[in-house]
Amino acid sequence: MVAEQWNAGLNTTLEEEDKEIYDLVQREKWRQYSCLELIASENFTSQAVMEANGSALTNKYSEGLPGARYYGGNEYVDQIENLCRKRALEAFHLTPEQWGVNVQPYSGSTANFSALTALLAPHDRIMGLDLPSGGHLTHGYATAKKKVSSSAIYFESLPYQVDMKTGFIDYDKLEQNAALYRPKLIICGASAYARDWDYARLRKIADQHSAYLMADIAHISGLVAAQEANNPFEFCDVVTTTTHKTLRGPRAGLIFFRRAPKGEKNSDLEDRVNFAVFPSNQGGPHNNTIAAIAVALKQAAGPEFKQYARQVKANAIALAEALKSKGYKIVTDGTENHLVLWDLRPNALTGSKMEKICDYVNITLNKNAVHGDSSALVPGGVRLGTPALTSRGFKEADFEKVADFLDRAAKIAINVQKTTGKLIKDFVVALESNEDVKALRGEVEAFARSFAMPGFDPASVPESCRDH
Ligand code: PLP
Repeated sequence: MVAEQWNAGLNTTLEEEDKEIYDLVQREKWRQYSCLELIASENFTSQAVMEANGSALTNKYSEGLPGARYYGGNEYVDQIENLCRKRALEAFHLTPEQWGVNVQPYSGSTANFSALTALLAPHDRIMGLDLPSGGHLTHGYATAKKKVSSSAIYFESLPYQVDMKTGFIDYDKLEQNAALYRPKLIICGASAYARDWDYARLRKIADQHSAYLMADIAHISGLVAAQEANNPFEFCDVVTTTTHKTLRGPRAGLIFFRRAPKGEKNSDLEDRVNFAVFPSNQGGPHNNTIAAIAVALKQAAGPEFKQYARQVKANAIALAEALKSKGYKIVTDGTENHLVLWDLRPNALTGSKMEKICDYVNITLNKNAVHGDSSALVPGGVRLGTPALTSRGFKEADFEKVADFLDRAAKIAINVQKTTGKLIKDFVVALESNEDVKALRGEVEAFARSFAMPGFDPASVPESCRDH
């Protein structure tokens, strides 16, 4: 027990020490329990991951790599980081002879910028999937007026796109443009693309220009680990990922790099990637997070995780089919992974309005651009993902029920819009007093609360914080 007055509060619980934050955390737990979480990039991590993430490891500085730190006292931290690296290779079925991994990136965005720093010189040319086609900001996103991402500020970027008719990636056009642009790096991977990747084709295109091929598998890494998606490691030089989406770990990033014998291309990738992470882009690693990643990777390597990944995909198919059977349009007409991109334009409803009404009825999702949108400011659809609810035990029939709820929400929104006109602020005012909204919210809430919550016990949330 710390007795000195200046140390008061160092051994009290969060509830005793800071009731305001404690209550907000409890309210957030109750919200997660009471809502249908359909954000494709989210998941519910395990109690063990959260324990490691909230551990005393947060106290430690350990700049450098295991065995070569700039600070003393790292004997246990070294073991944790080494275990994490070993488990990362095992979870993705890689041998340490062929692949290495840096587990220190604070997030997917910093992992990506570190990878670009490692592979490129300033102003080198990159090609990544355009954001409105489902790509991520960090793959070189710029608008006509502004270079938005640092990946577009410090490198030259020419995006590739999906075919505007089919919604599938237009590999032919990519190949033609690459022949003119001669990129140094091609990035594959997406945040809102429901189809798998043709890595062999991309490798071929990259090789035509001696370019690097990097896959950002942030969204699908759980599926890749479970061998429920095509394998980017077969064809890529570098693979980055977040750890908190389908992989179901804490919030962080990883960079995998291919090894090669001395003197060959890629033989120096290890040094370049490690140097790019620290000291180029980051300082001390977050050891608590690295321990939590290690726990998640151990879980991801087990047979139960394979079942989980299969169920994530089966649920996404069930959701897409159920929506289609109600007459809705799904981009690419289906899904091969964990997400469904729902095109609401035929229903004269914007993604923003659908997101709003869903918030009112305890369904959490996000508006999303749909290929061919006339304005980037008015996304024509929403993105739905199955990883989080599958972690709560949802199966195909449960996702059919989710589709019923979504259908009702869309119909209410279309009706409300008839009375309010197009302005979102009038639409929101009308939702607040709408009886159909209230009724649907009650049903969604009861349904959501009939499923268990991974990671924590909702019964532990105090009554005073159960007001979502
Ligand atoms: N890469 C992809 C494909 C993503 O979808 C995301 C986030 O959604 C990121 C990178 C960035 O990850 P973070 O939010 O951890 O920086």
